[in-house]
Amino acid sequence: MNHGKIVCIGQNYREHIKELRGEEPKEPVIFLKPASALIGNGDRIVIPPGIGRVDHEVELALIVGRKATRVSKGEAMAHISHIAVFNDVTARDIQSSYRKAGLPWSLSKGMDTFAPMSRPVPISSVKDLRSLRLKLTTNDEVKQDGRTDMMIFPPEVLIEFISRYMTLEPGDIIATGTPSGVSPIRPGDVIEATIDGVGKIINPVVGE
Ligand code: MG
Repeated sequence: MNHGKIVCIGQNYREHIKELRGEEPKEPVIFLKPASALIGNGDRIVIPPGIGRVDHEVELALIVGRKATRVSKGEAMAHISHIAVFNDVTARDIQSSYRKAGLPWSLSKGMDTFAPMSRPVPISSVKDLRSLRLKLTTNDEVKQDGRTDMMIFPPEVLIEFISRYMTLEPGDIIATGTPSGVSPIRPGDVIEATIDGVGKIINPVVGE
């Protein structure tokens, strides 16, 4: 499957907005992550030297199956063919300082290996996208444990919003935001992200 672009959603879970001291958005906050950052189960997350704090963010990923331009909420889900577990790895110190300065923070999200994703499974393999449990552990210690019904903007609203402005093409990935519990990862850690019924990714962290 060719993944052209990764559209990520920021601030889509209230408890996560609180922990980052943000404000609840009135419409979805979107940013892009390059597909060159993608890695799979078992691959290493590589942290470049001198970049400060790096965080994990477990998320539900939707994979586009059919081209979507200006689709309504009602039509939205018919354009999604697969789902996967995604870890939106973030260089938090860089993100925070760029944000404060009013500069784009693509670098903090786009580094090589900063997009671990499980092998996509057909969307038909889950009954209800809004009742999935997202879990992430660092060295077997639970850091994030949330449910997709805690999303502020559900998948169909995200697809309607994104496709109003940006065509979604087959293979594109939508990372739907992370629940609370983000925390730093360091070389030597093993990060395990799971969504029940969808998949699991285990990624060791190394320094460069
Ligand atoms: Mg995220």
